[in-house]
Amino acid sequence: MRIAVDLHIHSALSPCADDDMTPNNIVNMAMLKKLDAISITDHNSCDNVEAVIKAAGSKLMVVPGMEVQTREEVHLLCYFNCLDKLMDFGEVIKNELPKISNVPKIFGNQLIIDDEDRVVDERKEMLISSTDLSIDQIIEEAISRDGVAIPAHVDKPSYSIISQLGFIPKNLEGGMVEISGYSNELLTKFPSHKLLYSSDAHELGQILERVNFITVCDLSVSGILNALRSPSK
Ligand SMILES: [Zn+2]
Ligand SMILES: [Zn+2]
Repeated sequence: MRIAVDLHIHSALSPCADDDMTPNNIVNMAMLKKLDAISITDHNSCDNVEAVIKAAGSKLMVVPGMEVQTREEVHLLCYFNCLDKLMDFGEVIKNELPKISNVPKIFGNQLIIDDEDRVVDERKEMLISSTDLSIDQIIEEAISRDGVAIPAHVDKPSYSIISQLGFIPKNLEGGMVEISGYSNELLTKFPSHKLLYSSDAHELGQILERVNFITVCDLSVSGILNALRSPSK
């Protein structure tokens, strides 16, 4: 069956996202837009994912995810079929972040929010930095936890695998890549890849309508992961 998804949404934990990207605001906007599933993919962090899953309850599927910045300054979207595996992956990422403090006045707040939209804490270290892990290491860490790693916004001029490397490495050939716009030109630009269209929303209004569909065999987070997985994996 075909389901409508937006699998790249930032919460108020990402310094560059609006402070009103709270768990309930995101869930309510996704419901308003009649999406079947979303993913919260904050920069190098996952502290708000549990709250969003709780806020969504049985109303909306939430894929545990994160947007990781590799040593090469490439953004990779990493998805997991359960929160425990994401949290475990999150610990690895936390340890590989440079110890630089965020300056909220310049870069924005990094708010940890509970499932009733109360701010409960703040991440102190700067989350929009490169981790000390390569593209291959991140992919390995994700796959070893049954996760999937997808190059983010390959059509963008910065922090994409194309902008940083100029090509898509062999081990990602035939797999899925994410695009942040949708056009016939993009469809022909990546003929050997499955395309995932996402909003990369940093504001509530940017969350997608029912415009991007994926085909799943079963209506579950694991079903979505299977649809995202490269056919060769
Ligand atoms: Zn990005
Ligand atoms: Zn993003």
